[in-house]
Amino acid sequence: MPEYQTFDHDVLVIGAGGAGLRAAIEASAAGVSVGLVCKSLLGKAHTVMAEGGIAAALANVDERDNWKVHFADTMRGGQYVNNWRMAELHAQEAPERVRELEAWGAVFDRTPDGRILQRNFGGHKYPRLAHVGDRTGLEMIRTLQDHGVHRGIDVHMEHTVLTLLKEEERVVGAFGYDRDRGRFKIFRAKAVVVATGGIGRAYKITSNSWECTGDGHALCYHAGAELIDMEFVQFHPTGMVWPPSVCGILVTEGVRGEGGVLRNKEGRRFMFGDIPDGYKAQTADNEEEGWRYTQGDKNARRPPELLTRDHVARCIVREIKQGRGSPHGGVFLDISWIKERLPNAAEHIRRKLPSMYHQFKQLADIDITREPMEVGPTTHYIMGGVRVDSDTQMSCVPALFAAGECAAGINGANRLGGNSLSDLLVFGKRAGEFAAKFARENNPGTVNGAQVEEAARRALEPFDRAGSADGAGPFQIQNELQEMMQDLAGIVRREDELQRALEGVGKLWQRARAVGVSGNREFNPGWHTALDLENLLTVSEAITRSALERKESRGGHFRDDYPAKDAAFGKVNIVLKKGADGTMRVRREPIPPMPDYLQQVIEENQ
Ligand SMILES: Cc1cc2nc3c(=O)[nH]c(=O)nc-3n(C[C@H](O)[C@H](O)[C@H](O)COP(=O)(O)OP(=O)(O)OC[C@H]3O[C@@H](n4cnc5c(N)ncnc54)[C@H](O)[C@@H]3O)c2cc1C
Repeated sequence: MPEYQTFDHDVLVIGAGGAGLRAAIEASAAGVSVGLVCKSLLGKAHTVMAEGGIAAALANVDERDNWKVHFADTMRGGQYVNNWRMAELHAQEAPERVRELEAWGAVFDRTPDGRILQRNFGGHKYPRLAHVGDRTGLEMIRTLQDHGVHRGIDVHMEHTVLTLLKEEERVVGAFGYDRDRGRFKIFRAKAVVVATGGIGRAYKITSNSWECTGDGHALCYHAGAELIDMEFVQFHPTGMVWPPSVCGILVTEGVRGEGGVLRNKEGRRFMFGDIPDGYKAQTADNEEEGWRYTQGDKNARRPPELLTRDHVARCIVREIKQGRGSPHGGVFLDISWIKERLPNAAEHIRRKLPSMYHQFKQLADIDITREPMEVGPTTHYIMGGVRVDSDTQMSCVPALFAAGECAAGINGANRLGGNSLSDLLVFGKRAGEFAAKFARENNPGTVNGAQVEEAARRALEPFDRAGSADGAGPFQIQNELQEMMQDLAGIVRREDELQRALEGVGKLWQRARAVGVSGNREFNPGWHTALDLENLLTVSEAITRSALERKESRGGHFRDDYPAKDAAFGKVNIVLKKGADGTMRVRREPIPPMPDYLQQVIEENQ
């Protein structure tokens, strides 16, 4: 065995976002020893950026809400390719997870009678998002972190895991390095929970933080796990479009939940012109009713700005493409107009949307209480990810669990806003619980020294290379990949463009394998990026292959050449697995039929 610093834990959690922290807390509460590894500092995981809130049918604002409505909303939003069991567990358990967070000290905005306040969000029938202004993620991370640290979890901050270690079929730990000194580390564990978040950095315009390079998707895939639904990438309708340096930064759906409206350059609220049939019964057909909904009128239907994200994003793209966009290539999102309706509108906006107010004031010199924002779609979330057992979160690889954004199933073709934070809590807890159970019931495996040596050799290769023939460094290759994915596998897709993307990924793989870096292992961002490329290319290939396979349009996946939904595709998931020869294998797999009692819930909530 090589002489690398080695840590032993019963359960190793990779990722300190909401899912990883919640998993670590649960495993620790079950009495096993827990190690937590994360790329950034504790408290800085991407979850900290979450704004609008946590979806849970607490029924504090509208007593008609319950798990069944939440389940039906989630399935409708996901266009029925969701894992229905996960959607059921999520809707049933989210309220308890939020109350637990409150008991652990999380601060929430309150109703006049002191209960957790809930706000409107796209695709949710009733006000359902528990929130703290527009800084919900920060509060969630703060609370989980405090709770976790007091439980005695061992935290390895600023460490990147490069590969999962296996003994035959089973995972027995992970191999990585510390990002400051570049020293290799071995983490031995009886069970591993991967909770590494999203893939947004595979695209040029994204709301995601630097950490979101698809590491967990790639780690699990290369360890033998299956990926599903990778074609379903969520392009959030409202990211900043100006100035260029801040392009992609999220503008929370909470703005629309509080009464913000979308207009084109002609001043028209274009969303009223395109309400999908499945949502007509629930959507206001006039501005007056839409406004009343945002102000809590239970008899009003929601405004079309609060339709699902996939639909709103496509409507925005249509306005822009047809020449009705804003000066910087977006459309207008206006919350300032509510001064026509509310006496203290400016103060109200600053109180309900403090981060948005500061974000626009400081980054774009726009006062959102007085003028409209310019917004356009931004790569935000991936519905696809590691295929897991719905109840335990274990992948098809023994001892390997996944939770949070890097796992898949609950969201189907499109995620409703707020359903990620609740997913992290519900399935983070489950992953921790079942990983601890696995650890208690199984002996530690043996780490294979040759596998470690091979991983270390590959990690150091970039230092030995002369560099690619064209002289491109890792950052340039990453940029080219991001541009290409944005252009060819983005919000509107076509067969020929996806084929070009696939060829492009192949060429970039070759260049990434030849890329060299200079300097040494200490504080070397070029080296880190060279190592990230393998993950980014793996997820980009996965997205492209799945998008080619799904010859229809559904949720986040829109094919210009197959613009309609196809019932046959509504019955399958696209599954990816690494073949014995190392190539990515794609197959369609039937979705198990939904049991009658859940079918009935959906019919009752049409
Ligand atoms: C601006 C913004 C606002 C949002 N608002 C909301 C909202 O209001 N409601 C909602 O439901 N959702 C929201 N989302 C989505 C939601 O925030 C994310 O889906 C969710 O936070 C992902 O959490 P996670 O625990 O899965 O991963 P993350 O929070 O992304 O954490 C991943 C962790 O894994 C670590 N990691 C990654 N790779 C490695 C590696 N190789 N080795 C070691 N560690 C690694 C990272 O360092 C990090 O600690 C928002 C997203 C954005 C971008």
